[in-house]
Formats: sequence, structure tokens, C-alpha cells
Amino acid sequence: MATSCAACGSELMVPGKLSADQNLTFVPANPKFLASGSKVHIQVNACAMCGHVQLACDPEELAAKAEPPETPNPTAPGSSETESAE
Ligand SMILES: [Zn+2]
Repeated sequence: MATSCAACGSELMVPGKLSADQNLTFVPANPKFLASGSKVHIQVNACAMCGHVQLACDPEELAAKAEPPETPNPTAPGSSETESAE
């Protein structure tokens, strides 16, 4: 999978990690499971052209381990009405 630099667009990205001891992980604020399995592994890439370091995680892994953000549901009865004046 080609990763391009978000800063300069270069594809000369060098994969690595920020911690010398352990792989970097992201812990969701509202994990679905309050266990060590709620950590999401972070992929770290550094741009060889401009030095920009960017972090990413697997969105499927994140969705599986974190609660989805609350989305407004205008059709649900009892919810706060936003602009349904018809
Ligand atoms: Zn770059």
C-alpha cells in the first residue's frame, strides 16, 4: 500500500515507530471492550523528502474496538428536533 506524505505529497515514506520499546498504540476514549484488546496499533511513516511524520491506524480495527461517534438522528422520535418544520 503506497502511503504519500500529507505535507508535500511525496511517496518516499519510511515506515517506523515512535517508541523504541513497544509499538505505538491508540486507546479509544470509549472503547467497546475495557481490556487490553481495545488498543489500536498505530502505523508511523516519515517522509524522506520533507521530514513530515504522520500517524495512521487501521480504520476497520479502530471501528471494531471503539464506539462510533454519536451521530444525530433526526428521524428518531424523542430526539432533539433540529430543523424539521414541515
Ligand atoms: Zn513530505
